[in-house]
Amino acid sequence: MPGQPSRDEIADVLDLIAREAREYLEGVDERPLRPPDVDDRAEAFGGRLPERGDGAVAALQQLLKEGLDASVASTGPRFFHFVIGGVTPAALGADWLTSALDQNAGLWPASPLGSQLAKVSIGWLLEMFGLPRSWGGSITTGATMANFTALLCARRWWAQHHGVDVDAEGLTGLPRTTILSGGYLHASTRKALGMLGLGRDRVRILSRDEAGRLDLSALRRELEALGGDQAIVIATAGEVNTGDFDPIFDMADLAEEHGAWLHVDGAFGLFAALSPRTAHLVEGIEGAHSVIADGHKWLNVPYDSGFAFVRDASLLPGALASGAAYLSPVDDPRPNLAYLAPEMSQRSRSIALWATLRAYGRQGHRAMVERHLDLAQRLAVRVDDSPDLERLAEVPLNIVCFRFRPHEVPEEALDELNRRIGTALLEDGRVYAGTTTYQGKVAFRPAIVNWRTREEDVDLITDVVRELGAKLAPEFVPVTD
Ligand SMILES: *Cc1c(COP(=O)(O)O)cnc(C)c1O
Repeated sequence: MPGQPSRDEIADVLDLIAREAREYLEGVDERPLRPPDVDDRAEAFGGRLPERGDGAVAALQQLLKEGLDASVASTGPRFFHFVIGGVTPAALGADWLTSALDQNAGLWPASPLGSQLAKVSIGWLLEMFGLPRSWGGSITTGATMANFTALLCARRWWAQHHGVDVDAEGLTGLPRTTILSGGYLHASTRKALGMLGLGRDRVRILSRDEAGRLDLSALRRELEALGGDQAIVIATAGEVNTGDFDPIFDMADLAEEHGAWLHVDGAFGLFAALSPRTAHLVEGIEGAHSVIADGHKWLNVPYDSGFAFVRDASLLPGALASGAAYLSPVDDPRPNLAYLAPEMSQRSRSIALWATLRAYGRQGHRAMVERHLDLAQRLAVRVDDSPDLERLAEVPLNIVCFRFRPHEVPEEALDELNRRIGTALLEDGRVYAGTTTYQGKVAFRPAIVNWRTREEDVDLITDVVRELGAKLAPEFVPVTD
């Protein structure tokens, strides 16, 4: 009967998608980032729920015909907006297979493969990042849930000091937590604190300047003033505007001295550990109590993927193991990810993680990171060499923060000019980069994280910004008479 899933559809669907996806990826290096009318095309999807469907091939053909032009080419080499990684071929193939096998990695009996590859890839990731293999780990949907998972462990640890099993009994009756951070704190960490009942706005931000750099002496003073309570200290490895790092080594020292929990959000910055050129930025990280990173950023596995590592491995099942008679025993010596992660049932994200680590190894991933470091330095030099561009920060990692600043445009008009260039840049579609506000100035912050990105792609950033800037600047030059 048409309109019901049938075995006969499978071959057609796989052939169709393999052919079309291959063609898409073969063209993605040169594809405009933003097809014309992309928003309208996306919004054109709608209508009523079909009463009778017309089958898989028809549905997928519509997706291909109308959906590709409703997509931004974020997997391509010229997408520098946000921090969005590409997909390595090994991870892509493994991810397709993951859907074909449809493995639920929550429980060993449902997926020995997904469960075991989770254990293996967590071990490999710990090793690649230079963290002790004795730490526990969890695979999540991204850094937000990794921050949530790690801070859940911090919350458990903190409540234990007050004699309370917070996961069993809840927060009622406990005092408020002291949570300390520099100004680099990411919005997703606040969100995680909100979800944890610790409060989004309860973090005390101790920054010493407008950029948000941590005031280390203020942190020391706050910790000294605690008088016996335990604090949760949050460090950011890789701030989103400039790629800068909190002083992790010193923070770990202070945390140790005062018995505080140190959590490090290294969504993309943890990858600094892969290269001897940048490893100093995360020096001392093994002194942290929890560390997280994204898979879908610099590891270049497909959405969605992240991981949380916790020094005291027992905290993860302590907080997250909730069993039932029909499930695996919670003390099963085999990995059951349902007891280590917020989700019970979960996609076997480990298959793509394992595949990319297996395919390219430590050296392959290090080489990718180093190529991106080189590209960021190249971009910084091109910014510095352009009389109408101004770099606003050092480039410790893979982000270059700069703005268009022609001498004839007065300072007070620069924000609006750069905002307008930002809008024009996205519409132009040759290269994609977003704007931010850094130290009160509207600026671009392209992030280089895609294995496909080449020198000519990065060079387009300055070329296009300058070209669009030159077109728009005359409107911002004061009229003199
Ligand atoms: C991207 C990012 C996050 C959030 O990651 P998601 O993958 O979007 O959940 C958290 N922290 C930092 C520093 C980030 O760059």
